[in-house]
Amino acid sequence: MTVGADVLEALRREVREFVAAACVTARCDGWMRGYDPEFSRRLGERGWIGMTWPREYGGGGRSNVERFVVTEELLRAGAPVTAHWTADRQIGPSILRSGCEHLRSEFLPAICRGELVFGLGMSETEAGSDLAAVRTRAVRVDGGWSITGTKIWTTSAHNATHLYVLARTGEPAGADADRHAGLTEFIVDRDSPGITVRPILDLVGEHHFNEVVFEDVFVPDSRVLGTVGAGWKQVTEQLAFERGGAERFLSTYPLLAAMVRAARRVPDRGVTERVGMLAARLAGLRELCLQLARAIDAGEAPVRLAAESKLLGTAFEKAVVETARYVLDVCGGDPEARRLLAEGLGAVPGASIRGGSSEVLQTIISRAEVPK
Ligand SMILES: Cc1cc2nc3c(=O)[nH]c(=O)nc-3n(C[C@H](O)[C@H](O)[C@H](O)COP(=O)(O)OP(=O)(O)OC[C@H]3O[C@@H](n4cnc5c(N)ncnc54)[C@H](O)[C@@H]3O)c2cc1C
Repeated sequence: MTVGADVLEALRREVREFVAAACVTARCDGWMRGYDPEFSRRLGERGWIGMTWPREYGGGGRSNVERFVVTEELLRAGAPVTAHWTADRQIGPSILRSGCEHLRSEFLPAICRGELVFGLGMSETEAGSDLAAVRTRAVRVDGGWSITGTKIWTTSAHNATHLYVLARTGEPAGADADRHAGLTEFIVDRDSPGITVRPILDLVGEHHFNEVVFEDVFVPDSRVLGTVGAGWKQVTEQLAFERGGAERFLSTYPLLAAMVRAARRVPDRGVTERVGMLAARLAGLRELCLQLARAIDAGEAPVRLAAESKLLGTAFEKAVVETARYVLDVCGGDPEARRLLAEGLGAVPGASIRGGSSEVLQTIISRAEVPK
């Protein structure tokens, strides 16, 4: 689906005007730390959640390139989009790709309205990079499954209406067995009996992630996402949606903008060179992200490209914070710039870990078939 430049430009203007009218306070990492369900509902009213999904499920039937424009503007503004971000970025697309009709009609329209908040229950203490090692177990019971286990680093679980859970439903047979077999994806009501959510504070004392304990939590058959036992293939595709978005290089954009404002006030060759280098890298990352959006529009799950984009994007975010320290020292910075620098410093160490560490992404890239 090709969309004209004039349509994209009009959409960009519309989002900018909306954000300006909402008097958003820009913050770094607003997509993970900016929880504002009312803001998400208003975005839903504008048709900016689920905008690429079919209209019959409440979506906008638009392209991923248009979605890129909307997400880019929201991220540039540092807007508080956490409430709907995970659902819009990866749970909805996974339901569309793998889910049955029942799941589609139950969840997609409500996600589009900005009413649902999802937490991602993938990682465990011994299963972060090595997701196939998950020990959370789902056993067959009458009418569904009973889940027992503990997930960790579950962002937004304390605010979530639902949790995505990757669990083991079958044992790989024998020592040489495929470790990726026997995994299944579930969608679980966060208020189900047997779920305990415990806060974990990050290094700056903020509460955004959690430990989530499941003790014999009943999940009906209707909440299996996709095929029992096919969880590995499905989650790998889902990670392409998780890794490939503009949030992997724009988390620190509000700080970059504040740095440019400071640099304009005090001409300095060293500052100009450093900021110019960042601008060039940013241009390259935008192109990469647009390439991803076009691949998704073509029906692909571009696993390798998403890994490349996240690897380069989070390295860029770190460079923004490092450069900002230098620039604000040389040029001085207003209190707003200092606040954004403090936020960036607190947020950026997690950027190259969450959603797959940089080392693991390099392995994925090196093993993937190089496109001809
Ligand atoms: C801010 C933040 C938010 C998060 N939110 C969520 C969430 O909502 N849901 C969720 O499920 N998880 C979440 N996570 C967890 C995240 O996905 C894991 O931390 C990540 O996958 C790494 O796993 P780990 O912490 O177990 O580290 P480990 O896997 O133990 O890795 C430790 C170190 O070893 C390296 N390493 C591991 N294996 C290899 C290898 N094969 N080759 C080379 N190096 C390797 C890693 O790169 C890393 O440096 C979040 C993490 C952060 C920081």
